[in-house]
Amino acid sequence: MSEALFKESYNNREYDRAYRKFDTKKCKTCESKICTLNCPQKCITWDEKNLRLDFIYECCVECGTCAILCNKNAIEWEYPTNGKGVAYFLS
Ligand code: SF4
Ligand code: SF4
Repeated sequence: MSEALFKESYNNREYDRAYRKFDTKKCKTCESKICTLNCPQKCITWDEKNLRLDFIYECCVECGTCAILCNKNAIEWEYPTNGKGVAYFLS
């Protein structure tokens, strides 16, 4: 699935507004880095050399796992405007 998603590109301005923004300050002191371990798409990796999270937007399926698991509230989440993007609901 990741290979298929990587073929997508996000040139549309609406997609530019959709992002997961990570608070690197909090991530630096995060011991678990649990978001990197549980992303089903492996979009998030910890760059030990530069002490930052690397995030590959194209492979993100907007499942929300990273935001739910982060106990430091370090992920700012914004959907594209006009109801675009993927939303999952618990039933
Ligand atoms: S779990 Fe939260 S604080 Fe820890 S690395 Fe991931 S986003 Fe940063
Ligand atoms: S929303 Fe889901 S797929 Fe996207 S980075 Fe977070 S855990 Fe990974």
